[in-house]
This record gives sequence, structure tokens and C-alpha cells, in this order.
Amino acid sequence: MSETYDVVIVGGGAAGLSGALVLARARRRVAVVKGGAPRNAPAEHMHGFLSRDGMPPAELLATGAAEVTGYGAELIDDIVVGAERTAESDFTLRLRGGGALRARRVLVATGLRDELPELPGVRERWGRDVLHCPYCHGYEVRDQPIGVLGGAESGALARALHLALLLPQWSDDVVFFPNTMPLSESDRARLDARGVRLIEGEVARFVVDDRLRGVELADGRAVPRTAMFVTPTFRANDDVLVGLGCAFDADGWVVTDATGRTSVPGVWAAGNVANPAAQVISAAGAGSTAAIAINGDLVSADVAVLAR
Ligand SMILES: Cc1cc2nc3c(=O)[nH]c(=O)nc-3n(C[C@H](O)[C@H](O)[C@H](O)COP(=O)(O)OP(=O)(O)OC[C@H]3O[C@@H](n4cnc5c(N)ncnc54)[C@H](O)[C@@H]3O)c2cc1C
Repeated sequence: MSETYDVVIVGGGAAGLSGALVLARARRRVAVVKGGAPRNAPAEHMHGFLSRDGMPPAELLATGAAEVTGYGAELIDDIVVGAERTAESDFTLRLRGGGALRARRVLVATGLRDELPELPGVRERWGRDVLHCPYCHGYEVRDQPIGVLGGAESGALARALHLALLLPQWSDDVVFFPNTMPLSESDRARLDARGVRLIEGEVARFVVDDRLRGVELADGRAVPRTAMFVTPTFRANDDVLVGLGCAFDADGWVVTDATGRTSVPGVWAAGNVANPAAQVISAAGAGSTAAIAINGDLVSADVAVLAR
């Protein structure tokens, strides 16, 4: 096993690389285990990141990787498959490719997975014209015929309705397809108040060829749409946090303080793994905040030993 890193960062997305930049510039010995693609990889462009608006997601990370390695951080092209606390202030992280890393502190920035509705056409166009976030891509589909898909899974009703109420901001042609979702009179009144058209009936598929063409209902009706918004179920990539024994809240999200510090001393979490609402810019901010807290924690630990 290599000598101990000050910090191993699990996940090389916006949160992880931003944390690495701060820690490497603080002259910490840092390794980032990169993992695979970031969550927004299916999208051609990233929006809403001041000064980077419209940049392809891969370009943001390539630029970030060059910055962090320029300050001496190591990027490791692997996946962490297990982690444990081996001493009071010492962690071991096992890599899929074999071998292990030792660290005094761990920053978990592994993001989340979007579980998409199981309908033909959704996966094929995900991140292009099948979307979930109006702040990411609403502007790109402004003034177009837009739809919002309801679903039956728990919690989806409120999120789908919320989306449908937001979207008239971007287009005056918004249709809500409740699909298998029961709507109350108050839901209907709220949609009506925002000018959202309601088309009821079970949805059979999204009609796609080289792009999204519309929605086909189970009774054969076809509704042309050039963009559809859906409500994926968000699943945190939290195996490492679970393995380390971190506490989770009633909704299944890791418990942290405002800096991302978890219930396990020495372990921080940042970005979508801890906060499904984080955009790229806020995930990056969370990684930076965690890094500053981690550096302070390492200084406090060293001072406590030296001043004994
Ligand atoms: C289709 C789509 C489009 C989007 N568009 C935008 C947009 O335009 N603007 C915007 O602000 N936001 C957008 N988002 C949201 C954006 O993707 C997230 O805000 C952002 O990716 C969160 O950054 P993160 O670092 O927390 O996670 P990620 O970027 O997902 O990075 C996490 C990294 O950790 C890696 N990883 C996971 N498990 C392990 C492991 N065990 N070991 C090592 N590595 C691991 C993953 O492979 C990944 O590389 C979009 C999301 C989607 C789905």
C-alpha cells in the first residue's frame, strides 16, 4: 500500500475535483479516484455555471483535471469498491483494479444515479430532448411544445406537478400527462391557473427517431412534443458512505453538517451524493467548502498532537 494521503477523494466530478483543487493548493497530499462518467454526461452542454455556460461536461472536467494535477494532486483512474476506518484517523480504500489507498481524511463525491421511467423512448433521448431540469435545459427548449410526464412511483406526483407549474416560464405550450397518476381538483386548478394543458390517459411510449417527436398514449392518441420533462428517482452512489458507517436520514440521504462533515469523524460528503438538488456549480461549491473544512480539521489534529 502507498504511503498515507492527507485526503483521498472518491469521485472525480465537479464536487470531487473542486475539493481536490482547494486541497492541492493548500499543499495537501491528495488523490482523486475518478470513477466513470459524471451524471450529466448524456447532455451535450452544461448550463448555468457562471463563466462556463454552454461548455460540454467533459471539457469542464478535463480543464479541472489539468488544474488539480498542475498543483500535484494525483488522479487515479479506478473505482473505490470498499472503505473502512482502520484506526482513529486512518482509512483504507480498496480499488476495483486491485490495491488500496490509505488516507487521513476521505471526501466522498460520488454523485447519484437517475432511475428513469420505464417507457420506450425515454432512455434513448435522455439528456437531449428528454430532460428533468428546467434550469439546466429549459432555455434551450424555450417556446417549444413541451410536455411533462407524471408517474406512479412514490413522491413523483408532487415533483411532476412542480415541474409542470414551473415550465410555463419557458413556453406557453406545456402539456401535463398525468399518465397513471391520480389528480385532485386542486391539482387541476393549479395547472389551469398556469395555462398548462392536461391530457389524461396512460402513456404508452415516447415517439423517437433521430429526435423526440411526441407522446403516444395507450389508446393510440399521438401528441406532438419536441421536449419532454420526466422525474427520475434519484439514487445516491453512497456505497462508500454506507461501508464507512455514516448516518442517513429518513429519506435515505447521508446526514452532514453545512461543510459536508458526516457522522463518521474524518469523512465528508459533497455534491449530488449528499444533495440531489445540487447543480454543477453548487456541487463544485460543496466540494470546495468540504475541502476547506478538511484542511482545518487536519491542522487541528496535528496541533493537538504537537501541543500535547
Ligand atoms: C442529463 C443531465 C443534464 C444536466 N445538466 C446540467 C446542467 O446543464 N447544469 C447543471 O448545473 N447541472 C446539470 N445536471 C446536474 C449535474 O449533473 C450535477 O449537478 C453534477 O454532476 C453533480 O456533480 P457531482 O460531482 O456531485 O457528481 P458527478 O458529476 O456525477 O460526479 C461523481 C463522480 O463520481 C464517480 N463515482 C461514483 N462512484 C464512484 C466510486 N465508487 N469510486 C470512484 N468514483 C465514483 C462517478 O463516476 C462520477 O464521475 C444535469 C444532470 C443530468 C442528469
